[in-house]
Amino acid sequence: MNAPEVITRRLKPFTYCAPTSMDEALSVLGNWNGKAVLLAGGTDLVSMMKLRKIAPEALVSLKKIEGLDYIRKDGAVLRIGPMTTIASIQESNVIREEFFSLHETTKGFATPQIRNMATIGGNICRSSPCANTPPPLMTMGAEVKLIGPDGERLVKLEDFFTGAGENALDQEVLAEIVVPLPMDRCGTAFMELTRNSSDVSKVTCAVSVVVREGKCDDIKIVLGSVADRIVRAGEAESAMIGQKMEDQVIEQSAGKVVQHIAPITDARSEAEYRMEVSKVLVRRTIRTAAKRAADNL
Ligand SMILES: Cc1cc2nc3c(=O)[nH]c(=O)nc-3n(C[C@H](O)[C@H](O)[C@H](O)COP(=O)(O)OP(=O)(O)OC[C@H]3O[C@@H](n4cnc5c(N)ncnc54)[C@H](O)[C@@H]3O)c2cc1C
Repeated sequence: MNAPEVITRRLKPFTYCAPTSMDEALSVLGNWNGKAVLLAGGTDLVSMMKLRKIAPEALVSLKKIEGLDYIRKDGAVLRIGPMTTIASIQESNVIREEFFSLHETTKGFATPQIRNMATIGGNICRSSPCANTPPPLMTMGAEVKLIGPDGERLVKLEDFFTGAGENALDQEVLAEIVVPLPMDRCGTAFMELTRNSSDVSKVTCAVSVVVREGKCDDIKIVLGSVADRIVRAGEAESAMIGQKMEDQVIEQSAGKVVQHIAPITDARSEAEYRMEVSKVLVRRTIRTAAKRAADNL
């Protein structure tokens, strides 16, 4: 029973920097030469520091930089600022009405206290395989805008994650999340299995499907917590495209997800269970998304 003792360890001393512009943040980050990390809501970072998993010499807070907290439609895309909290995502009408699976991820996301502090940028940049918001964003074809000393670049969220806790950031700040507006007749869904509502998930699944005349015109299936990163199940998608949205087809598609996942056994679940239940979760999520497409939700 030494877990609480470890978790409540004091933080090692560090320098706190609070730049007021993105240029200043990049310059401070550069000056620390890899020994500083960015701080958003701190819900992940401070826990990691208490556990001594990381011991940065400096924290560069993004909190004093204005204009990083927004959700706005802009032509054919939705733009989300990195400092937008999970609570704001949950309360957003545009997200609830047009990006429903992203709204759904907020329901089982920790506690109200955490949701008020945790940001979407932090959720993506932590790059945990069990993070809630990336799976639906990946099914929607989201991109992230990264700003660094050499300028800015857009990276598909699908290409952003490179391993457990690893990503494409290179002394850069995630400055915006860009999400294409959904196609006509598109339905989305997100489902997760957890031990309790405030715990991180055992398995997650997000689906985005376009259904025309009873057939699957397009589908994206993404799973979390079942590999070293969040994964897209391409074989399962191929098994659906052009097919009628029938139970047998959905069942066959769901069976193919095992080709894309490599779950581990940990405190939350066993690998075998995760493997089996992934198929069930994918089946349910496809059905729910397809029903929403039919209802044009
Ligand atoms: C009790 C508890 C329950 C939780 N439950 C869930 C859950 O159900 N689902 C879930 O997904 N997560 C959960 N989390 C994890 C955490 O709350 C989320 O990952 C949260 O979104 C992280 O955001 P943050 O703003 O707190 O990030 P921080 O902790 O501030 O940062 C996380 C990481 O991202 C980097 N970072 C942050 N912003 C940027 C940026 N703009 N550009 C570049 N790098 C950046 C930081 O340097 C750090 O490495 C839980 C955490 C706790 C403590």
